Amino acid sequence: MATAEHVHSADYPHFRALLEESRGRLQSELQEGGERRLASDRYSALAGEAPDAGDASVATEQADLRNAQIGRDVSELRAVEAAISRIDDGSYGICTRCATPIALPRLQANPAAERCIDCQAAYEKQFADRPAQPVTRSI
Ligand SMILES: [Zn+2]
Repeated sequence: MATAEHVHSADYPHFRALLEESRGRLQSELQEGGERRLASDRYSALAGEAPDAGDASVATEQADLRNAQIGRDVSELRAVEAAISRIDDGSYGICTRCATPIALPRLQANPAAERCIDCQAAYEKQFADRPAQPVTRSI
């Protein structure tokens, strides 16, 4: 444990800087995405009530792609903000599931990581088995 490579509070400023940089990037991406969406909504309103069916389906597809991108940005932003608040309360770098320190290389690769590698693998497996389903125990 004493020799385990994990984050110390002395490393917090380094990770905070990385996280704040990500937060700024995500916020501006989301803002740009929102502005583009407003512009295209205005365009649809101007285009009239009987759009060409082909154009409409292309537009829907593009909106879906944009929404998927925005969804990814929003969840990444939430993860980054949660990591910053863990720095604030001193629990940064500790797995939120099993409370063991997260390996330093993992945090360097993903500063917003909230789980150790084992818990992350278990988490991903759980959701891969039951995609988009709330986890319920029937036993
Ligand atoms: Zn863990």
